[in-house]
Formats: sequence, structure tokens, C-alpha cells
Amino acid sequence: WTWLASALAAGVAWYHWKLLHQDKLKQRYELICDGHAGLIGNTPLIKLHSLSKATGCEIYAKAEFLNPGGSSKDRVAKGIVEDAEERGLLKPGGTIVEGTSGSTGISLALIARAKGYNCLIVMPDDQAKEKSDLLQQFGAVVEFVKPASIVNANHYVNQARQRANEIQGGYFADQFENEANCNVHYKTTGREIWEQTNGKIDAFVMSAGTGGTIAGVSLYLKHKNPNVQVVLADPPGSSLYNKVRYNVCYAAQQSERTVKRHRYDTIAEGIGIDRLTANFLKAKIDDAYAVTDQEAVDMSRYLLHNEGIFVGSSSSMNCVAAVHLARKLGPGHTIVTILCDSGQRHLTKFWNNEHLKKNWDLEPSVEMDSLSF
Ligand code: PMP
Repeated sequence: WTWLASALAAGVAWYHWKLLHQDKLKQRYELICDGHAGLIGNTPLIKLHSLSKATGCEIYAKAEFLNPGGSSKDRVAKGIVEDAEERGLLKPGGTIVEGTSGSTGISLALIARAKGYNCLIVMPDDQAKEKSDLLQQFGAVVEFVKPASIVNANHYVNQARQRANEIQGGYFADQFENEANCNVHYKTTGREIWEQTNGKIDAFVMSAGTGGTIAGVSLYLKHKNPNVQVVLADPPGSSLYNKVRYNVCYAAQQSERTVKRHRYDTIAEGIGIDRLTANFLKAKIDDAYAVTDQEAVDMSRYLLHNEGIFVGSSSSMNCVAAVHLARKLGPGHTIVTILCDSGQRHLTKFWNNEHLKKNWDLEPSVEMDSLSF
């Protein structure tokens, strides 16, 4: 009788799970989006089979490259613009101004089109050309500045702030300091990850650019379960690894990163911070891994070869750190990370072997059949 009762209970549980699952699929299929903004968020989690198998953990990645603007920055752009509208800071005919190395600019340019605003983007002139081309196609005005330290008035963020002040109806989106960034990740990305894993999540791993994602997601997950571990993946030259690991940090207003041949000493675009931003300071982080450019290059090729997943540099760094963490935690844990954008945005740099060799002295050197990280 006990056996029969357990079998019956398992059958009923399975039937309910199937109904719920089918219902969710149906909802997604039948969804009619409320314009462009309706497409933002609610991205799926992808199980990374090769990484999971190699580590004995369940490693999932949130497919943020599926947002309409191609990255997680769509959420931020929507959050910042709606917040500014609610506070009366952005009015019809106004101009959204931002200093960005690309992804946020693309998302803001699209939101601006969808809502009828103008958009002005200030960016350093050493970023992948695909990004500035897209911005201009999307109707944004792009102004380039020479790479400079944040203490310099010519730094692209400082230039953007100044341009917003000069333009009538200008609104400086200020993704680094504007907490609408972190708030939108709390309300959407964090909640979605919690729901998608049914709360069965041991750790979240993510790199930081503005810090908005790791702050919002860490706050939400730890609010739900304080035991969820949050780990930062930090690229070469960034100051955050030392801050998290040893609480050593350089004072804000200094140029903390090492600058040798390039703007910063990492191939990764959009991540690594040279100051403690308002968004990053809100994050609840337990540990950090310093990820090398070589590891990121190798992981990107490994993911493409083994999973058919084609991502950019920051996503690769996230996956490297997810594997390091899985090895530390041991088999049986569930780890979630973020695939921020697609490799298509990085074709001329991160995905160009000639560029890697010539400018970074790097060559992909991964064993495609065994995970050496
Ligand atoms: N990946 C990419 C491609 C990015 O552009 C950024 C943001 N600059 C990040 C990751 C980091 O996200 P966050 O700003 O939320 O820290």
C-alpha cells in the first residue's frame, strides 16, 4: 500500500508539473507584446550541458542576448527612461544622453525610437565598430572621445554629463550612478532567476560593468535566501577583485586600472570598473574570481564548439567564473550566470583571431573535447 500511495503521489505531482509547464509554454507562445518594450526581459535560462557535465553541477545561463536590442541593457534602458518619465525629468521631444561603450547606447537608441525621444551617445573611439555603426543606424547621434581617465573632463561619461546640461530637454541617463539600473535588475532579472529555478539556486556569478546587474540580482536572491552565494567575475586591470577579496580598493577619482597598450588591459568590453559606482556599492558579493583574457577567449570557442552558443567577451568571462565556482562548490550545486550579448557584436575584435594575435598576443588554445579550466 505504501508503494502504491507513493507511486500515485508521484503521478499526481508529475501531472501538475506538466500542466504548469505546458501552461507557461502556451503563455509565451500566445503572448502579444505591448510594442518594443513588451519584448524586453523574461528571457529563458539555458542549461549549459557541456559545462554541467564536466563539473557535475547544473550550470544555467540567462539568455540576455535574446532581448530586442541584443543585450541585458534593454532592461536598464527601459528602467532608466521610465523612471525619468515618472520623475518628470524626461519630457516629450527630450534628448536621452549617455556615455557608454556600446550596449547601453544601443538599448537607449531603440527605446528613444520607440518612445519618440532623441538620443545622443558619447563613446570612446577604441570600441568595436559594430557598436557605433548600429547606434547610427538606430538614429542616435554618436560623438567619439579619446579614451581618458574618469578624473579627466574628456572621459566619455563626463562628456555625456556635460552635453546633457548643454542641450535643452537633455537627460543624462547616467547608468553607472543611476540606481534605476540596479532597481530594474532587482525587479526583473533577479525575480526571473529565482522563479525559473524554483528557488533551487546555490550561486549566481556575474562580472560588473556598472554593477547594476550583480547588485540587483544579488539583492533579490539574498532577500529570498541569504545563503545564495554571489560571486564576481573580474577581468584583468579591473579593481573590483581586490575590493571583494581583500577589501582593498583605490579611492574613487583615481585611475585604478593599469593602462598599457590599450584603454584597459583586458580584451573584455563593457566589464571591469575603475571606480566604485553607486550601483556596484549596492551589490552583496561573497567572493570574486580574476578571469584572464586567455580563459575568456578559450571559453567562447569552447561554448561555440560544444553548445552552438555564440557569445561576447563578458559572457565568456562569466562562464569561466561559473566553472571555477562549480569546481570549488563540488558536484550537485546549481549555478546561474548571464549571457550578456551575442558574439555578433564582437566579430572584429574578440572573435577575430588575427586581431587577437596582433593586438593582444592571444591565440585560442582550448581543447574542444575536454574542459581545461
Ligand atoms: N556585458 C556587457 C556586454 C556589457 O555591456 C555590460 C555593461 N556595460 C556588462 C556585461 C555588465 O553589466 P552591468 O553594467 O550591469 O554591470
